[in-house]
Amino acid sequence: MQNLSNISVIRDILNRYGFTFSKALGQNFLINPSVCPRMAELGGAGPGVGMIEIGAGIGVLTAELAKRCDKVVCVEIDSRLLPILDETLAGFGNIAIVNDDVLKVDLHQLIGREFSGMEVAVCANLPYYITSPILMHLLEQRLPIRSITVMVQKEAAARITAEPGTREVGAISIALRYYCTPKVLFQVSRGSFMPAPEVDSTVIRLDILKEPAVAVEDEALFFQTVKAAFSQRRKTLPNCLSSFFSLPKAEVAALLEGCGIPATARAEQLTLPDFGRLCNALHQKGIRRQDI
Ligand code: SAM
Repeated sequence: MQNLSNISVIRDILNRYGFTFSKALGQNFLINPSVCPRMAELGGAGPGVGMIEIGAGIGVLTAELAKRCDKVVCVEIDSRLLPILDETLAGFGNIAIVNDDVLKVDLHQLIGREFSGMEVAVCANLPYYITSPILMHLLEQRLPIRSITVMVQKEAAARITAEPGTREVGAISIALRYYCTPKVLFQVSRGSFMPAPEVDSTVIRLDILKEPAVAVEDEALFFQTVKAAFSQRRKTLPNCLSSFFSLPKAEVAALLEGCGIPATARAEQLTLPDFGRLCNALHQKGIRRQDI
């Protein structure tokens, strides 16, 4: 098997196939040999596990996952990589490549078809231009998966893993915590990639909760409430929510106080249960998700 994190090997492969990196597809391939084995181990790769990867590149992480798991299915959008992957992963009989956009693939169907009887997890070095859409896409569908281990831009990792009630917290932190518990695993410097990106990276793992973290009467309204609350970070909640839901500020203030939240609070000060109570109070008042 070729050493897929060796720069000369990578250059030789890319030259032979005339492959050029696409910035638009977030193509920064890993060249640091210690990263993929570590990601695979901490991502729960092992016997009895079926792994979904997003974005194979030339297969450096795919190979580490396939060495450990029963099966790996990788969704890769760039068809130019298919002949390369045929060569680099030729030694494995437990890898399937799906040439598609991960946001368009029916993952419930894929899991049912490919991973019968296996525990399923996701492990990927994500294309950074669509980190949040991919994570929300994976979580919103309530896939039967136990964890999502991903490399993301360092700043995105800080947002995703921020604790509610801290200054770093944002709408994505709250939205993701509805479905999972996020954890920082390790840092990866920009020099670990070819070509080197302008940012450093962090590997995080999202452990999927069996039930959502809070019970809400209307999920869509919950996510809209979170989004609206963080839409103008410096403003207080009555300001943010009244314009979004077309409610008088005084009514929002009374609603907040009824939930035990001061009317002077800002979104970053709220816990997940606070958001849950607020959403249910809005729902009971007859507020429904807005068409935006
Ligand atoms: N796993 C490889 C590695 O670590 O070297 C490649 C990682 S690279 C950061 C991201 C990969 O995702 C690229 O191969 C890119 O073509 C692929 N990709 C980008 N957008 C995608 C999408 N919407 N669906 C599936 N794959 C995508």
